[in-house]
Amino acid sequence: MNLAEFIIRIESFNANVNIPLIRKAYEFSDNAHQGQKRQSGEPYVEHCLEVAFILAEQHLDSATIAAGLVHDIVEDTEVGLEELRRDFGDEVAELVDGVTKIGMVHFSSREEQQVEYFRKMLLSMARDIRVILIKLADRLHNMRTLEHLPPERRKRIAQETRDVYCPLAHRFGMARTKVELEDLSLKYLEPEVFFDIAERIKERKDEREAYIDEVVGPIKEALAEDGIAATVYGRAKHLDSIHRKIQMRGVPFEQIYDLFAIRVIVNTERECYHALGILHAMWKPVADRFHDYMANPKPNGYRSLHTTVFGPQTRSVEIQIRTHQMHHVAENGIAAHWLYKEGRQQMSRSDRQMVWLRDVLEWQRDMTNPSEFLEYLRIDLFSEDIFVFTPEGKLIHLPKGAGPLDFAFQIHTEVGIHCAGAKINTRLQPLSTKLKSGDTVEIITNANRTPSHDWLKLTTTSSARSKIRRWLKKAGFESSVRLGREILARKLRSEHVKMPPDDELQGVAEQLNRKSVEDLLAAIGNGSTTARAALNLIAPEPEKEETGFVSRVIERIRGDKGIKVHGMDNMMFRFGGCCQPVPGEDIIGFITRGRGVTIHSAECPIAIDLQMQNPERRIDVSWDTARGQSFIVQLDMVVEDRKNILRDITEVISDSDTNLRAAEMRAQDSTALGKFVVEVSSLSHLNRIIDKVRKVKGVLSVVRARGVDSRSEQ
Ligand code: MN
Repeated sequence: MNLAEFIIRIESFNANVNIPLIRKAYEFSDNAHQGQKRQSGEPYVEHCLEVAFILAEQHLDSATIAAGLVHDIVEDTEVGLEELRRDFGDEVAELVDGVTKIGMVHFSSREEQQVEYFRKMLLSMARDIRVILIKLADRLHNMRTLEHLPPERRKRIAQETRDVYCPLAHRFGMARTKVELEDLSLKYLEPEVFFDIAERIKERKDEREAYIDEVVGPIKEALAEDGIAATVYGRAKHLDSIHRKIQMRGVPFEQIYDLFAIRVIVNTERECYHALGILHAMWKPVADRFHDYMANPKPNGYRSLHTTVFGPQTRSVEIQIRTHQMHHVAENGIAAHWLYKEGRQQMSRSDRQMVWLRDVLEWQRDMTNPSEFLEYLRIDLFSEDIFVFTPEGKLIHLPKGAGPLDFAFQIHTEVGIHCAGAKINTRLQPLSTKLKSGDTVEIITNANRTPSHDWLKLTTTSSARSKIRRWLKKAGFESSVRLGREILARKLRSEHVKMPPDDELQGVAEQLNRKSVEDLLAAIGNGSTTARAALNLIAPEPEKEETGFVSRVIERIRGDKGIKVHGMDNMMFRFGGCCQPVPGEDIIGFITRGRGVTIHSAECPIAIDLQMQNPERRIDVSWDTARGQSFIVQLDMVVEDRKNILRDITEVISDSDTNLRAAEMRAQDSTALGKFVVEVSSLSHLNRIIDKVRKVKGVLSVVRARGVDSRSEQ
């Protein structure tokens, strides 16, 4: 077929076709594909012409035919989409863009779910249904010329055709395309079966044609008698449907009788029922084989009356009755809806789809099976999924409503985390934009950009959201770790303890029930554990001198107030367990590993020892007492073991305006040893108490507990 023949033929389908546009598209395509050949050896443009012709046969509009002529240009030549848009406008360019994008994805798995997914993808990608029609025409011509490809590719393409494109053609009610695709798929997938059935059908061709004449003749006569103008013919069923019948019924070919059907095509719907009545009067109908698909169209819009009668020789014959309009729709399906549209005012693409949708709804009016209807609408109104592309043409599947951030996280977590912006179809768009099927999305990243809480509002997919949440949590964790490390380092510095290496810290972490050093530092950072707790494990104070009840009380109550360390702020101190100095006494401080500064009375024997052994650890301290501050002192006493002596001592202490924090008495021979813990505000206060206690009857001695004494007790 050359261009001149092509134009004559398409004009026969549609007198209003835009010939200058078609010529221009042909020349553009011929130029772009110059030098390219098909596997068959033909110039490439032949394929384009054939595809355009298939579209013209379906009475499609000029834009679709033109797009058919240039459909492979973007994918297979140097010419880009923008050039196409400049020369042919948005409508043709977008059709070609859709076909190009669908061409990028290949279906490889035969798994049923995948097939359905792939079909849905194609449907939802084609914002304009004509994209699918062009793709089907392209596939049809490729299947017609499949023999030129190597066997492996033949099988793959035929399988994909059977799995994906045949059901699509069926959904769209495009019987002619569907039947041809099915037979070609059978031919390449199961050649033995295909040629076997073809051979057997051929063998019985003469007999069958003779019988068809026996049926067609009387029908024509009877209809003419009643004044009904009709086209009547017999048509062999296609091989794939015969093959499926053999498989489904489990019978040999010889027992399949309905290898053909009779078609009666009339002008009006009323004539359809009229013709049916005439036929049923001529031949007895087979029970349960009458179907009124006019009143109850099939979900894909197919309408006809079907009946089976006992014809001549009482052989059963299937007869289909329909109008010319119904016939056109039955053959071309959805494509039929571009018929007659051209030449009138141009409708927008969405208008066209609405027209088609309205027609479908019209057909469905009497549908008895609502689930079938819904299934149909679900496909038509496009699914919950969208399919978009990376600039490299990789297909990304997202739920409807997804935005650029969902896309970015789908590409790679790092791309998502550093997403700084997005170009959608080469234009910069806000991150809140909702993506549409067929969009090409380019993510702009910036290493300094990181997720914020707002991003959770801009994302739809759970994977993107969980990645954002995880990042936010981790970022919070990391800043806690940083803070925790600082707090601990400051604490250790103040205690003159070196920060231990991480492997040592790991042990500390485990003792504090933290899995790792980072966990420990984060816990310090967020306050769920203290630096002191870690410090106590890093640098435990040398052996505790006193562990008795009283000394524990002292330890607990005393705290670290009331001391000024010269030259340092916020130092941590504690009082030595050996002596409990009170304001007014001379004191000295010693820097101890892990425990800050320990304060001792200047007279404390332990302090004297320390001073001799580690003079470099000595530090000057002085009292820095606030008003009302009190200090804990332990008084050791020896008393007569008499009734009420504990009460008497307690009374005396209380009378001198002193808090008694703890008391303990232990009998020893005829005497008792007592330990009293009192709160005093100064040395003179303490001396006053000691004087008073000494005067209590039965008290033999009262002394301040000192390091030497407590040591000697152990
Ligand atoms: Mn092609």
